[in-house]
Amino acid sequence: MKIKQIEIVDIHVPGRSATTKSRRSSWLSTTQKALPLNKYSEFSQPGVNMPGYDESPLWVRITSEDGTCGLGRCGYGSVTGSMIEQVFIPLLIGRDCFATEFLNDLMWRANQRLGVEGHATIAQSAIDLALWDLKGKLLEQPVFRLLGGPCREKIQTYASTDDLDWALELGFTAFKISNPVHYDDGIEGLNRLEEKVALARETVGPDAELMLNPVMSYNLAFSIQVAERLQPYQLSWLEEPLPPANLSGHQKLKEAVPWLPIATGEDHHGRHAFARLIENHCVDIVQPDICWCGGLTEAVKIYTLAEAAGLQTSPHIAASTPYGQHFSLAMPECSRAEFWLASDPGIPLSESNNLPGMAVPVDGFVTPSDAPGFGFEIQPEWITPKAAR
Ligand SMILES: [Mg+2]
Repeated sequence: MKIKQIEIVDIHVPGRSATTKSRRSSWLSTTQKALPLNKYSEFSQPGVNMPGYDESPLWVRITSEDGTCGLGRCGYGSVTGSMIEQVFIPLLIGRDCFATEFLNDLMWRANQRLGVEGHATIAQSAIDLALWDLKGKLLEQPVFRLLGGPCREKIQTYASTDDLDWALELGFTAFKISNPVHYDDGIEGLNRLEEKVALARETVGPDAELMLNPVMSYNLAFSIQVAERLQPYQLSWLEEPLPPANLSGHQKLKEAVPWLPIATGEDHHGRHAFARLIENHCVDIVQPDICWCGGLTEAVKIYTLAEAAGLQTSPHIAASTPYGQHFSLAMPECSRAEFWLASDPGIPLSESNNLPGMAVPVDGFVTPSDAPGFGFEIQPEWITPKAAR
């Protein structure tokens, strides 16, 4: 079966009238941000994004010659869209749509001059995911079966949130909180961070899994200070403390803080970046983002590297996307999936979910539907081709 058309599309899901009133605005409206650029406080304020930051998804629709369609998604649309149009569409039109491994290799080789650890890999992800959705629909199988799963009935999740009271009420038993400080904040920052983590531990109780998410806001020395200061609070992991390029920093950190597992990977892209992390013993939990790392085909390669090294893979926001849910249901060494809990407290997850067909966690567990592909329930009339750039 050949690829007939690849398009960038807009998806407009008709609005539903909310039936439940929110109790308050979510933690995102008040929490200081942690990203590398937040070294400069003008970028730390709630509601301020760095230029070029794009949280709206870019959707790709791939149609096979029999008219069946698959949908894939990535981010950073203004940049990735042009790569899809200029590079990947001409490269893939007319190819065998089942040949996901071959098509991954074509895109990977084309990316060698475009950037295999950046926007080109993110753009490739949307194409690869649409191909898997299409393959599932053509074979009338959910993607988790095409991957060799399921290996579990339901996926245990954890909530990424500072609204811990709301997460507890929803039945989550594992939690990751945001980081309020940058390494430039020094001792005052350490004190403020400890206060936040201590309160979080008190709120979730001594038996709950609790993690901290600095999102590349630390340097090596500050990471070690944080790990030492937070030892009493029994964190399950410290996530992405350093920027991805700092390989020696990751190595030294792992050696310096053996009591604290290190998780990272959402800003690493492609198999080679993860091979370097794993071969150099830099990481305990591997976290590729399936919509950024090169897609599902690439995520499976990364998973295999981690599995062989005895490491868990926990893809970035896996429980918040159909892609991550199917991956997590299928893969054995993938025991916990992240749910990004950023909707207003009080609104049930089923009401805040704006992606029809995607399951949401119930009492801390989620199970994707076994509908073909990724199980999207997106009506054709909600999809419109994006105007040419
Ligand atoms: Mg993260």
